[in-house]
Amino acid sequence: MALDLDVRPSDRPVDDAARSEILADPGFGRYFTDHMATARWTADDGWHDASVHPLEPFTLHPAAAVLHYGQEIFEGLKAYRHADGSVWLFRPDKNARRFAHSARRLALPVLDEDDFVAAVEALVRADAAWVPDAPDGQEASLYLRPFMIATEPFLGVRAAHEATFGVVASPAGPYFSGGVHGVNLWVTDRFVRASRGGTGDAKTGGNYAASLAAQADARDRGCDQVLYLDGEEHAWLEEAGTMNVFLVTSGGELLTPALGSILDGVTRDSLLDLAPDLGLTPVERRIGLAELRERLADGSVTEVFAAGTAAVVTPVVGIRGEDRDPEGADDGAGVVWEQQVGDGTPGAASLELRSALLDLQYGRTPDARGWLRRVV
Ligand SMILES: *Cc1c(COP(=O)(O)O)cnc(C)c1O
Repeated sequence: MALDLDVRPSDRPVDDAARSEILADPGFGRYFTDHMATARWTADDGWHDASVHPLEPFTLHPAAAVLHYGQEIFEGLKAYRHADGSVWLFRPDKNARRFAHSARRLALPVLDEDDFVAAVEALVRADAAWVPDAPDGQEASLYLRPFMIATEPFLGVRAAHEATFGVVASPAGPYFSGGVHGVNLWVTDRFVRASRGGTGDAKTGGNYAASLAAQADARDRGCDQVLYLDGEEHAWLEEAGTMNVFLVTSGGELLTPALGSILDGVTRDSLLDLAPDLGLTPVERRIGLAELRERLADGSVTEVFAAGTAAVVTPVVGIRGEDRDPEGADDGAGVVWEQQVGDGTPGAASLELRSALLDLQYGRTPDARGWLRRVV
């Protein structure tokens, strides 16, 4: 089904001077463009009322299902401006497919994948002036946030009969100001983000709400991000909560945890595909924390990094965790351990993979895989 998208341009867009000022230092997720896309769904009428229109607040009934039971999903992708001024999306079909997967898991209506891409493209066209230039390898882009919420005013627990799909856009500057630097990960054994049969492989707000306490814990331990272990044995690497994790071995493998309860990242998939071009062998399998710790100690794991759309590739330079007495009290203090990754600076293969992906996204190398989609 092709949704009919009505485009109603804003008659009061942010003026050129104010927009230029924002684009000079947008940060991440702080400023929003002139327009948004929305479409409504009801069980009786299916998808309808699709449009791109001036950005405006929602009016929601206080009993809307999303406010009580968290029936929500989202996506994240970017529009990139190439040197010739054209604007491109990177593998938006992958986001569309994952959005449909998340919708099924959260019992939300599935939006046709072509309609998803069409809505994103229509918004990028309406807000094309908000896609920053990216001169000299700088990493500016327009971050796009498609989402869906259950809007039916009903307090019974069942899948809502009314939902709203939306897309908002927010200019994004380089994730790392002042050059790529490495982060430290806190291995949490106190919190899990997912378990088999849960929602770990869906992009839903609840996973993020549940991650905030763990993230605060990581900060308290002097770390930047959490590294989650599996929910059953607390022994196997999962991911970093907003990013997938990778190891580089001295034998030239690019190792990452197999799919299951982790998010099937577009960046993850793309890096696995690009790895052979850089002389790395991609391997997806279970990876034990014990294996990671042994191989960091004996030097056969040379690099660790996290990967996702927002930060691209984030080198990991240190890992910390806590060994606690399994018989002890739940909040009993344990012994904190810490291991450096490689020489404690971002690794060469991590930085090469990062550049290879960015060069593709910004049109600086040929798109042999047909991953880019031109919008403007
Ligand atoms: C979005 C997300 C990622 C990264 O996915 P990309 O498609 O590469 O941006 C990783 N983990 C979680 C939990 C996520 O929500």
